[in-house]
Amino acid sequence: MIELPRLIDLKLHAIENIAEDSKKLLMGDTAALIVDEITYKLAGKRVESVLDDGGIDTHTLFIKKATMEEVEKARELYKETGAEFSVAVGGGTVIDVSKYSSFLSNMPFASVPTAASHDGISSARASIKGEGRSHSYEARPPMLVIGDVETLSKAPPRFAISGAGDLLSNKTAVLDWLLSERITGEHVSQYASLLSNATADAVIRERREIAADAIRRTYSVFKGLISSSMAMCIAGSSRPSSGAEHLISHKLDAVLDSPAMHGEQVGIAAIFTMYLHGGDWKEIRKTLSTIGAPTTAKGIGADEDVMIDAIMNAQALRPNRYTILSSSMTKKAVRKGLEITRII
Ligand SMILES: [Zn+2]
Repeated sequence: MIELPRLIDLKLHAIENIAEDSKKLLMGDTAALIVDEITYKLAGKRVESVLDDGGIDTHTLFIKKATMEEVEKARELYKETGAEFSVAVGGGTVIDVSKYSSFLSNMPFASVPTAASHDGISSARASIKGEGRSHSYEARPPMLVIGDVETLSKAPPRFAISGAGDLLSNKTAVLDWLLSERITGEHVSQYASLLSNATADAVIRERREIAADAIRRTYSVFKGLISSSMAMCIAGSSRPSSGAEHLISHKLDAVLDSPAMHGEQVGIAAIFTMYLHGGDWKEIRKTLSTIGAPTTAKGIGADEDVMIDAIMNAQALRPNRYTILSSSMTKKAVRKGLEITRII
């Protein structure tokens, strides 16, 4: 079963169409709007009034974290107000709460991202914090995605640049998947792997546009994030867009006091895993450097030992997902690889 978003509205002032778009999709007359303090000011307030003006009774819920308690709070609101769909205005946290709570309450949701920083904005998976660490839950992709280019391009450039890094890492994620097919016999979806790889190729081709200005960067990266999400929807898992480079990034999240952005970390990790695959790691490095993303461990606040340990211990986070790191490496070889690729 493949579930995909139904309507992606990507234009300069797409928020102005949200009431019309949701009516087109028969999403209902009562909405629950999930925001946080910051995203409400950025775009949530506007979304609220466009929905109200469009005759959609809108109830707003402010949340702080992507936790089960917040998910339950959202579900309570749906029940109390008779909301027929959920609308998320924000980044990962808000989108994940709306995505998972609406899935549990069996209703559609609309995603209004305020930054183009990772490919979770329209994927089917939600990352919710349990006791201690985050857990990725199966959910449903948004029925409607609003890409308001003006709002998105006002976010600091680092966000969309990080999004581009996340897309670029699809190249090594796909190589890990193909490796697993050869070694473990895992099934690879041809459509999902080709789409995911082509998405990363588009970043390489459009790197100068991405570096040029906020509006062009937003269009290019946002389309890529949608396409990468689609690949995950087709595969029914994050496999096409998440390999060893993502495991390294998750490990860095766990050990760094203040981790860098997701796409910055996976971008750097992809230079290294591409080197291990014997692929064109220089192309990854050059692309990251052209778009203004960090290419060194120092650039994401990780010292040499932290970087080496993250690589050595990444696979243990998810032993069942076969990657290039599944065969154990010596510390000496990791250090040498990091020096060759100039990450350290
Ligand atoms: Zn990612």
